Amino acid sequence: MFFDFDQKPQDSEDKGKSSFNSFEELKRHLGDVFSSAGSKLGFVFPAGNMEGKEAAGDDAREKEFAEFIEKIKSFNMKPREVRDFLDRFVIKQSEAKKVLSVAICDHYNHVRRCLLDEKSSQVEYNKQNVLLLGPTGVGKTYLIKNIAKLIGVPFVKVDATKFSETGYVGGDVDDMIRDLIKAANGNVKLAQYGIVFIDEIDKIAISSNFEGRDISGRGVQINLLKLMEESEVNAYSQTDMISQLRVAMSFAGGGVDQKQSISTKYILFIASGAFDRLVDIVKIRVGNKSIGFSFKLSPNDQDEAYECLQKVSTADFIKYGFEPEFIGRLPVRVACEALNADDLKDILISSEGSILKQYIEDFAGYRIKLSVDDDALTEIAKLAADEKTGARGLLTILEKLLRDSKFELPSTDIKSIRVTKNFVANPAKALSNLMGKGSMAKTTTLSTSKVKKLTKKTKKS
Ligand code: ADP
Repeated sequence: MFFDFDQKPQDSEDKGKSSFNSFEELKRHLGDVFSSAGSKLGFVFPAGNMEGKEAAGDDAREKEFAEFIEKIKSFNMKPREVRDFLDRFVIKQSEAKKVLSVAICDHYNHVRRCLLDEKSSQVEYNKQNVLLLGPTGVGKTYLIKNIAKLIGVPFVKVDATKFSETGYVGGDVDDMIRDLIKAANGNVKLAQYGIVFIDEIDKIAISSNFEGRDISGRGVQINLLKLMEESEVNAYSQTDMISQLRVAMSFAGGGVDQKQSISTKYILFIASGAFDRLVDIVKIRVGNKSIGFSFKLSPNDQDEAYECLQKVSTADFIKYGFEPEFIGRLPVRVACEALNADDLKDILISSEGSILKQYIEDFAGYRIKLSVDDDALTEIAKLAADEKTGARGLLTILEKLLRDSKFELPSTDIKSIRVTKNFVANPAKALSNLMGKGSMAKTTTLSTSKVKKLTKKTKKS
């Protein structure tokens, strides 16, 4: 169903302004729109004085922004500190950590200088947008998420494949900036200092299978490069009903957050992709020049592929299908390593964000203590490595392994579960052995009368 708000702003001057004279008028209009659409849908405004709430929200946003600016004005983090922080969460990827730490410190040092001295913002500056190469599930997103957390800036991850040149089919590239506003809880000013992570960037390479040029991929690259450099994006999409409503409400509320466009000048862009064909391109170039490389690389050998990607040049990216101007806007490039079974075990044991910790917490929620033997961890890591999805394989394996235990044990009086190597080999048998351990394993089911009571309660409410 499509709702057309005829009060939609017509020209760029009116962008973001509402033609409603009062909040009551806006409410009446929305009621009319819904009833004329023959819809049974209603539109419920939050009770109370909405105007006051909007204004209060804007006050909070202003305060949050002012605090953020003060923080950036005194930004003095060193690359080593950033790297040390990342070490707590991300296993391996030492080169990526180093490169990212420097890029992040350079970027926010530049932002600090511009905030402190107006003249600095007029000096030509090449943004340190980053290109991360590497297979899936090795921590590319995780690195950036943690950096955003450390600096305290909004972060958004988008998929390059969902954008089209025109925005008619698929999204408009500007949507990623608007997503950043959502990540900043609607704080448009704060969003201007955030980080945008564009995944699957390799999928917008101009395909060589086409006769002539692949217009779509090229068009998206051109639109993206404008964003990555510096441009103004309308904070509220003109085709999105909720955004238009937000504009109208902001106006009706008379709140102070009337900023309707967002500058990408200080937004840092991190692009990432697996770049499958790139290894071959580098191999041919480097091999031909015979500088230490030959054609002995097997395409399945992840370590050699990593080594190869470290030698990637701008010419290789152009050959891959990127416009020189586009790849030029991603000057910092670094490859991430594939993770083997030992690395995956290390993630389980030492990463502060280990998925195993989450499982321990989940069981603790039912007052059940989960413990895992060292050799069981080795087996879990091996099985996860076979999945070939990087650290994501750990979640898949743990989920399969502990799914039934998570379902059954909370209804028993069993208070601990120990995952051994045998448990990993046959979780069903291990669980049934555990459950069969005499009186310890009595399943606490709800009595019929208790079920009846609960159903009555639900019906009443
Ligand atoms: P991608 O490289 O595809 O962006 P992600 O960063 O999204 O992969 O990884 C998925 C999840 O796997 C992360 O949220 C994190 O929990 C875990 N993970 C991936 N790589 C690592 C790593 N090197 N160290 C610790 N955890 C990792």
